[in-house]
Amino acid sequence: MNLIILGPPGSGKGTQSQFLKEQYKLKHLSTGDLFRDEIMKQSPIGKKAQAYVDKGQYVPDEIINQIISNTLKNIKHDFILDGYPRTISQAAWLDKVLASLNETISVVLYLDIDEEIVIKRLSSRITCPQCKTIYNLNFLPPKVTGICDNDGVKLIKRIDDSDKNTIINRLKTYKVATAPLVASYQARGLLRTVDTNQDNSSIKKQINSYLLSLKGNKNND
Ligand code: ADP
Repeated sequence: MNLIILGPPGSGKGTQSQFLKEQYKLKHLSTGDLFRDEIMKQSPIGKKAQAYVDKGQYVPDEIINQIISNTLKNIKHDFILDGYPRTISQAAWLDKVLASLNETISVVLYLDIDEEIVIKRLSSRITCPQCKTIYNLNFLPPKVTGICDNDGVKLIKRIDDSDKNTIINRLKTYKVATAPLVASYQARGLLRTVDTNQDNSSIKKQINSYLLSLKGNKNND
């Protein structure tokens, strides 16, 4: 099963990917986590990406596309793509890479959410730099303030979540560059819309019902 998880910043792509990864034994590829790790290491890719990520702009397609080709050649199938594709041209690139591997997209989960909720969520989001668990100061706090429940590491606030203008910028970029993908995957019959204005258990129920109805799914316990 090859999944894409699509939605605006703060719609819960990372949170739902963690659940999907465990429940359906999928490999999780988050392009945002990948860039943040490279930035932390100050690798050549990280240095190039940093200026874009910190401002809430998209990293140029040629950088991310190459990373996706190399990664998918290794993992091949049974993956969740979280944060990729984000542009029409990235989607075309993905189709080519998958065709070369004889793979297809099984389904695109579209996390639909109201803009006011997104702004609230992003402003109070904190994450673990090590295990990538996402918390929210208001809705989903860690047991001990500022510390990850899983590994005891100090939680951080992402630079692109720290400033309201950057958040608004990311939402604008999403609307212009990524929202057109929703119509495109809808036209291909791949899109399943998840209402993420609801609580987490209802979101999981919606996702499970879509995935259980997928033909040939064997990991649907
Ligand atoms: P969010 O969806 O909350 O904005 P992500 O963690 O998915 O957060 O991405 C963080 C940042 O990483 C993006 O704002 C962008 O700068 C960069 N990025 C991630 N995926 C891509 C991509 N497919 N194309 C270009 N830039 C990307």
